[in-house]
Amino acid sequence: MSRHTKKHKFQTVLALDSSFMPMVEMPRRKALKAMASGRAHALDLQTWNKMGWAEVASRPFHAVVFPKAKAVSEVKLGFGRGSGSVFKRDAYRCQYCNAKGTTLDHVQPRCQGGLSTWTNLVACCLSCNQRKGGRTPEQAGMKLLRPVHGPRFQLFERFRILTEEAV
Ligand SMILES: [Zn+2]
Repeated sequence: MSRHTKKHKFQTVLALDSSFMPMVEMPRRKALKAMASGRAHALDLQTWNKMGWAEVASRPFHAVVFPKAKAVSEVKLGFGRGSGSVFKRDAYRCQYCNAKGTTLDHVQPRCQGGLSTWTNLVACCLSCNQRKGGRTPEQAGMKLLRPVHGPRFQLFERFRILTEEAV
C-alpha cells in the first residue's frame, strides 16, 4: 500500500460537535459540502485549530467540526433503532460465555431498576439468560467477558487514534 492510499484509508471523516464530541462518521464528500456551505470546518488534530481551504487542499483531514451541533448523549440515543444494533456490537456472541447470543440480557435487571440502554443491554445465550434470571452478574456469580460499550465507542476509539497519530 502506498503512503498516499494509506493516508486515505478512511473514506469517511469524523463529524464532531461544538465540544469536539464525535457524533457520526460521514463521507468525505458530504463533509466538504457542509464546509462549503459554512456549516462545518475541518479540524487540525495537531493544533485543534480550524483548517482553511488551502490547508484542506494540501493535506488530508479526518475530522470536521459542526459548531452549531450538540451531540445527543449516549443514554438518550437510547434504543429507538432496535435491538439489532446491540447484537451487532456484540458480534452475536453471548457476553457471558461467548456462545451464540440469541437473546438480550439487561445487565442490571429490569426488576432491579435496570434500563433498556446501550450500556445495560448485552447479547446473551438462552442458557446464560435463564441462569442469570433477575439477578445482576455479581448476584448470579457470572462475569461479563468484556466491558459494555456505548453506540459511539468506535467513533471515540477512532478519534483517540487520530489525535494520537497527529502528535
Ligand atoms: Zn452464554
